[in-house]
Order: sequence, then C-alpha cells, then structure tokens
Amino acid sequence: MLDDIGTEAHIKREKAKAKQLRRTRWWAQKRAAAHCFYCRTPLLPEQVTMDHVVALGQGGHTTKSNIVTACHNCNQTKKDRHIVDYLLS
Ligand SMILES: [Zn+2]
Repeated sequence: MLDDIGTEAHIKREKAKAKQLRRTRWWAQKRAAAHCFYCRTPLLPEQVTMDHVVALGQGGHTTKSNIVTACHNCNQTKKDRHIVDYLLS
C-alpha cells in the first residue's frame, strides 16, 4: 500500500500498530533501559515516550527500526518535523 502514504488512513493504521507494539516484550525491554534518542537523557520507564523517527505524517511506518525511545520534551518538540530538520535546528 504505497498509495496512501501520509494520508489519514495511513496515520490511523500506523497508530493502531504503535498501540500494539506498546504491549510487546520488545517495547517493555526498550523502556527498561532507555535513554532519549535525541538528547541522550537516561529515562525511567514511566518517562519514556514512543517516537517515530520518520513521522507518520511524512510517510513513516510503525516498524521496530523506525521507533525510538524519547523523552516527552523531545517528542513534543519534534512532532511531525523530519528528523534531519530537527537535529540540525
Ligand atoms: Zn530528549
């Protein structure tokens, strides 16, 4: 399905996948020893937010390679901006 990249349907589907992924052992293990991917701050499990490196609005997918742990602050600041824009700003 490459024709609906970045559309509401795409975002909705990928968000549903993210919800599933939050229930996995993989995510639990990531949260247990997490730091923020962007600012490198060590995080407690309850501080961890799930962030899509390539935002869903930019055609990103919910795959393990596109998911990182981030602090709330960086997650909010980044939002839908592209990672490269964010890291260069
Ligand atoms: Zn951070």
